[in-house]
Amino acid sequence: MTGLVDTALKTVGVARPSAKTASANAVMNTYNRFPLTLVRGKGCWVWDDQGHRYLDAVAGIATDTLGHSDRVMRRSLHRQLRRIQHVSNLYRIPEQEELADWLVQHSCADSVFFCNSGAEANEAAIKLARKHGHQRRNIERPVILTAAASFHGRTLAAVTATGQPKYHQGFEPVVEGFDYFNYNDINSFETALQKHEEHGPKVAAVLIEPLQGEGGVNPGDHAFFQTVRQRCSERNILLILDEVQVGMGRSGRLWGYEQIGIEPDAFTLAKGLGGGHAIGALLVQAEADVFRPGDHASTFGGNPFACRAGLTVAREIERRGLLQHVEQRGIQLREGLELLVERYPDLFEGTRGWGLLQGLVLRENSTCNAAQLSAAAIDQRLLLVAAGPRVLRMVPPLVITRREVQQLLQRLDATLATAA
Ligand SMILES: *Cc1c(COP(=O)(O)O)cnc(C)c1O
Repeated sequence: MTGLVDTALKTVGVARPSAKTASANAVMNTYNRFPLTLVRGKGCWVWDDQGHRYLDAVAGIATDTLGHSDRVMRRSLHRQLRRIQHVSNLYRIPEQEELADWLVQHSCADSVFFCNSGAEANEAAIKLARKHGHQRRNIERPVILTAAASFHGRTLAAVTATGQPKYHQGFEPVVEGFDYFNYNDINSFETALQKHEEHGPKVAAVLIEPLQGEGGVNPGDHAFFQTVRQRCSERNILLILDEVQVGMGRSGRLWGYEQIGIEPDAFTLAKGLGGGHAIGALLVQAEADVFRPGDHASTFGGNPFACRAGLTVAREIERRGLLQHVEQRGIQLREGLELLVERYPDLFEGTRGWGLLQGLVLRENSTCNAAQLSAAAIDQRLLLVAAGPRVLRMVPPLVITRREVQQLLQRLDATLATAA
């Protein structure tokens, strides 16, 4: 019957009316998904469509800074929706100015460009770096150095910046003007720098994460970043930090750069900034700001609604003293994870991370990978996310309580007991 209707409609050039029930097939097949449908959330907890409750150590994907359906966030966004949602950047936007002021007052930056995601923030940074390279170092074809195993997003330039060949495969030609060094490896960095600079200025910027998130929860090394900072300053190369995952308090400091003891010329934000709402930002120091009107733009970037979400996150981090809270809960989580490493020595070689961005590192010869363990955790009603094949990542909402950290560790222990 349906076949006949299809044929009939096709002959007159009309698509078949959509089925009554929502179908997964209409969604383009770009994600490996867990067989789980989450329909409701409160704080650090989410419920599936069967009514089962899960402890959420994924938090969107490190985005739900204040947890799900936070009361203050709800009220503030309801109020904003009643006032105004979107006006274009043709006009002044008070919410945007307020959020920019807050970010500038609380960081080393002097001005902010708003967009909608991490990849877009990095695109803005890449354009800024190229213009800065042309103008301030007289480079014709600027190169941007990034780290192997990094992650900077999925648009063409951001994915080229991402130092993982698996993300490039099938999408060549990648964008020109990028080269790579090994993260936390001073020799590798110096070699890459020398290679491009030996016949005069060629490098416009170094774009790097203070802690590699997707690449395996790998914290930046102090001495390494001191050297990178020094080399960049000597040559007027921009040091741009990708703080998309670490920034906005997740490390226990507001910015990841505070953990490695340097100041960048520019840095990018997204994930945690909007507390679950789409917003990204490029923050720059005055000397690095070469953008002029017309250089860059975004239709939705900096709209009143997204900026209200960002402002609410910012103010609640302060009002609830979340930085200290993240530091304490981070220590509790870390200590618990260290006990699990001791209890399951055949599975794990260690744990690493900052604050509420922690990773459990599987042994090379371990009998299971991080994706399998995340799937097994679902049976224990715990949501976890892999960071590469060998790291199990925990990025709960920053408001997670002491008791909830205990529950997270208990559920993780139960998961590992079944896996081991
Ligand atoms: C997630 C992430 C991105 C990409 O952000 P999107 O919003 O998905 O474009 C870029 N950099 C880092 C460090 C990230 O963790």
